[in-house]
Amino acid sequence: MDADASVETLSGVGPRVAERLEGLGLRTVRELAEHIPRAYLDWEQVASFGDLSAGEEATVRCTLERIRVRPTRRRNLKIVEGIVVDAAGVRETAIWFNQAYLAKLDAGTELLLHGTRELGGGFRVARTEVRGTGLHTVGLVPEYRASEDVPSYRLRAYVDAALPRVRFFPDPLPARLRQEQRLPLRADALVAAHRPRDRAEAETARRRLAFEELLALQLGFQERRRALEEQSTAPALPDDGELIERYRDALPFTLTEEQESAIAEIRQDLGVPTPMQRLLQGDVGSGKTVVALYALLRAVEAGHQGALMAPTETLAEQHFLTVEGICNELGVRCELLTSSVPAAQRRAVRDRLASGETDLAVGTHALIQEEVEFRSLAVAVVDEQHRFGVEQRRALGRTTPHVLHMTATPIPRTLAQTVFGDLDVTEIARPPAGRKPVITRWVGHERSGEAYTRLRRHLEAGRQAYVVCPLVSESEAIEARAAEQEAERLRAAELRGLRVGVLHGKLKTAERREVMAAFKRRELDVLVATTVIEVGLDVPNATIMIVQEADRFGLAQLHQLRGRVGRGAEQSYCLLVSRPKEELTEDAARRLEALVETSDGFELAEVDLELRGEGQLLGVRQSGLSDLKFARLLRDRKLIVTARTWAERLMDEDPAILGPLALEAQRVEDSRGFA
Ligand code: ADP
Ligand code: MG
Repeated sequence: MDADASVETLSGVGPRVAERLEGLGLRTVRELAEHIPRAYLDWEQVASFGDLSAGEEATVRCTLERIRVRPTRRRNLKIVEGIVVDAAGVRETAIWFNQAYLAKLDAGTELLLHGTRELGGGFRVARTEVRGTGLHTVGLVPEYRASEDVPSYRLRAYVDAALPRVRFFPDPLPARLRQEQRLPLRADALVAAHRPRDRAEAETARRRLAFEELLALQLGFQERRRALEEQSTAPALPDDGELIERYRDALPFTLTEEQESAIAEIRQDLGVPTPMQRLLQGDVGSGKTVVALYALLRAVEAGHQGALMAPTETLAEQHFLTVEGICNELGVRCELLTSSVPAAQRRAVRDRLASGETDLAVGTHALIQEEVEFRSLAVAVVDEQHRFGVEQRRALGRTTPHVLHMTATPIPRTLAQTVFGDLDVTEIARPPAGRKPVITRWVGHERSGEAYTRLRRHLEAGRQAYVVCPLVSESEAIEARAAEQEAERLRAAELRGLRVGVLHGKLKTAERREVMAAFKRRELDVLVATTVIEVGLDVPNATIMIVQEADRFGLAQLHQLRGRVGRGAEQSYCLLVSRPKEELTEDAARRLEALVETSDGFELAEVDLELRGEGQLLGVRQSGLSDLKFARLLRDRKLIVTARTWAERLMDEDPAILGPLALEAQRVEDSRGFA
């Protein structure tokens, strides 16, 4: 009985059904058996329509009186409307979207409806169970991710045909582990997940499956990491010397405790021939660059080279400006390498990197990875690693420099350990002291006039300001045009008489640099910009930012934008202008509220995770983890840590164990589209 046999080998599943199941990604008996319910409805625990207040979510058991498809003007929208009566005799209108097939149900059919009581009356149905169609009409009803072709109740029948086979599936978890963690057998867990007696049993079963999934993932990470450690060596650098001493002296401030402990960790990494694989997480402005430069200078000090890679040209240029200043002071030769550097000059830079004449290269990821041959690259810093594909990260990981990844979009540590399981994680959670958190206000559109009045007060006090244009998603060109128009409009209205510059992604590099430099030199009062200012621009004199139509932006993006102010000693402000609150979705309102409440990037990451669902996080999506079958990254945080510990233990103690689990790891990776 092969777990990977086609679903067609099940009784009741022919070629046509198989094809429909394939539409849900279910080809094999194993895939079907592992398609566990996304929720359970309870025939016993039900509410009455009469008790629900507007917006309340509930499950109601009721009888259908009549049902019809209501005509709408939009072709792609089908609304089904049914009149139903619950057990208490309360009559209600049930509303379904795009489930026209339900209109065929007969009057008198008993239904279990899960949904929400609408504000204006009516019950909007999210999940429907039809009594008598499935086998499970008592106790918990498994509710599957289904399609119009294969409704949930049909899936129940197919799963029932598959379940007897799960006994024959291999259980990859070693008995010792199962006992210590008190995990049920895989087969039992699968059966219990599909047909639980109660919710507790269902959750135990899911956790068992999730644990195995996370363990396989962690084993994969560790294996890769160990392979890297065995196959490649990086130069073991001698300890801090005279250059580092001068670097510290040159800094106009003392490092914070967290910067020091980050440096201490990196210092350890660099001292041994195992390539460093470290992720440095910290909010914008938390002082990561200073730490990264330490690592780069260690390479130079030891007679090697360093590279700092950024995701965009703007950011690369910005980094270069910072790095160049310090390097000149220290007598370190550094050069910029972006595609806007003329070809001939670029060739010359490459030659100097190959000969070792140049110590540090700053550039975009692509350029440094593809074109450059270093005489001896010892440390590479990769900025904004979340914008950096997993593939590239791995490619870089196979070379021999020590690698420090930096991200200003921190995610909770346990999540980082899952997503970047093959990296060590260092956090800088607090910005340098003395910096005042940006005061953030949420302003309704009708009061945006007041926001601009406030902005003018800042300018009168000699400060500068940013105005961020509404997000236009169609294309960079359209967005650029919109920004130009908005700047024109503002010059004639709210910002009349002020020196207003525009910054967007369609400007040529030289133009963009000129605008940024002019702003820095205070020749411009206000910079009207698209999200291109999100990274890089460092103007401490800019103390106020207005974000227009802030409800359109993502939480992380707004937080990044906000990081452009509050970089000096003055109190800074960020004013988020949105459409009227009543018009916003609950999520949009929650995002803006969260930004007003806190400026802690880690806290915001948690909120973001809750709102968007774990799969939506950038890093998660890129890692291919977005569709883990059983694990829920938020809910299973402790489990992630446990799985990581076990993975390390198994690798150390009992590599033989890896046989079946490695296969499992391979399967998890294959199905997640890893490299
Ligand atoms: P990040 O790279 O995390 O965004 P940076 O390293 O660019 O942060 O630091 C942001 C600003 O704070 C820079 O202007 C930097 O000079 C300054 N800074 C960094 N560390 C400290 C510190 N320990 N004390 C005071 N200012 C600091
Ligand atoms: Mg920085």
